[in-house]
Amino acid sequence: MAYSLRVRCSDCESEWYVDPQDITLHLWRPSDAGRPWYTFVCAGCEQEQVKKVNNPRVYEMLTEAQCPIEYHAVSPDLLEEHKGDEISYDDLIDLHFALRDDTRDWTKELNLDD
Ligand SMILES: [Zn+2]
Repeated sequence: MAYSLRVRCSDCESEWYVDPQDITLHLWRPSDAGRPWYTFVCAGCEQEQVKKVNNPRVYEMLTEAQCPIEYHAVSPDLLEEHKGDEISYDDLIDLHFALRDDTRDWTKELNLDD
């Protein structure tokens, strides 16, 4: 069944009916890394629109309409649990001076020999 989806442009504030093939659904991999979003180009002002999928019904409509899907991989580092204090400006200044110190053996200090 062919049908169109109604979208609203945030730039020119117009509403359009568009072919589902002209809307791209963006999903994270892994899927729990973040909320999906969708994009389309406004037929009126030609600005690309980026919209959050802020409720399950919108997600259902986009997938049922078989909009093209683009996957975005999240680095596993971003999903790791981090312990300790946040890095401060003082830490960065200390690092700057430490990196300029030619007497330090970074391979040894960072255990890169293993
Ligand atoms: Zn527009």
